[in-house]
Amino acid sequence: MKSKTLLRVALGALISLTSVIGAVAEDGPAKQLFGAQTLPTLGAPRSDGFYAKGCLAGGVALPEDGPTWQVMRLSRNRRWGHPRMVGLIEKLSHDAAAKAGWNGLLVGDISQPRGGPMITGHASHQVGLDADIWLTPMPKRRFTADEREKVEATSMLKGDTLFVDPQKWTPSRTALLKTAASYPEVERIFVHPGIKKELCDTVQGDRSWMAKVRPYWGHYYHFHIRIKCQPGSPNCKPQEPTGSDDGCGKPLAWWFTDEPWKKKPEPAKPVKPHVMMLSDLPKVCAQVLNAPGPSSAAEVTYGSGGAVAAPAKVAAPAAFAPDDDDTLPEDVPVPGQKP
Ligand SMILES: [Zn+2]
Repeated sequence: MKSKTLLRVALGALISLTSVIGAVAEDGPAKQLFGAQTLPTLGAPRSDGFYAKGCLAGGVALPEDGPTWQVMRLSRNRRWGHPRMVGLIEKLSHDAAAKAGWNGLLVGDISQPRGGPMITGHASHQVGLDADIWLTPMPKRRFTADEREKVEATSMLKGDTLFVDPQKWTPSRTALLKTAASYPEVERIFVHPGIKKELCDTVQGDRSWMAKVRPYWGHYYHFHIRIKCQPGSPNCKPQEPTGSDDGCGKPLAWWFTDEPWKKKPEPAKPVKPHVMMLSDLPKVCAQVLNAPGPSSAAEVTYGSGGAVAAPAKVAAPAAFAPDDDDTLPEDVPVPGQKP
C-alpha cells in the first residue's frame, strides 16, 4: 500500500473513531436526552447511579393491562423499569386483590425506557427502581386510553389540612402499604406525612414494617415504592438503610411544624437553577443513551416471552398532577433526616 493511501486510511479511521466517541460523549441536558428515548437498551438489566441521578439499561415494560392492574398516563411512556421492579408491581397487584381487598392497582410512573431525569415531575425514578401506585383502587372495568390520561386520583387528605380524611382512608389502604412494605426488596415507601401519622395512630400489633414507610411532600394521591439496588448493578448507589424505628416520633413531628411548609426567602440575586447534564450522571449513562434497542416495545414487555425471558421469580414477599409530586419543592427546606 502506498504511503499516501495508508495516510488516507489512517485519517479515515481517526475520523470515524472521533465520530463514535463524539456520539457517546456529547453532553447536553440529561432530561432532554433521556426524555427523547422511546425504547430501552437490549441486554441484561442494570441500574447505574442513584435513584435521583442515574439511568437504566435493559429495562422492561409493565404491560398496559393485567388481570389486577391498569397503567395510567400511557402517553408519558414511563412504564419501564428493572424487571425486578416490574415483577414486584405485578406481585403486589395480585396480593392487593388476594389479601388487601383491592380489585387491582392503578399504576402511575415507573421510569423512562432508559431511565434518567425527566422533563416533567420526579426528582427520582431514574434507575428503574421506583414506582408510583395510586391510592385510588382500580375499577372493575377497563379505562379507555383517553380516561387513563384524564381520570384524576383522589386526595386522601381532609380539605386543605395535613391530615387524612377518615372517610377516604380505609383499612384496605393500610393493608396495601403493609403488604408492599413486607417484601424484602422494598427499601422505602413514600407517603404524605398525614398518611404516616394515620398509620402511627392506628396500626396495632406488628409495627416493624412501618420503618420503611417514610413521610414526604406530595404523595397523598399515590404512594411511591422504592426497591433496593439489584444484583448485576455494580454501579447502583444504595440509599442508607431506614433502620428499625417505626418513625412515629421526632422525625414525624417535624412535618407538623411550620418549617417544612414555609417559603424560603427570596435570594438577593436570582440564582440560576442547575440543569442536570449528561456529564453529571455516571459515565456509563452516555453509553446507555447510545446503545442499540429493540424494534418495538412488545419485544421487551415483561412476561411477553420476547427478548425478555419469562418473569423472573420475585422473592417472597390538583394543583399538580397526582404523579408529579416527587420533585422536591424548590421553596422548602430539606428535612434534617433524609426520608
Ligand atoms: Zn414517585
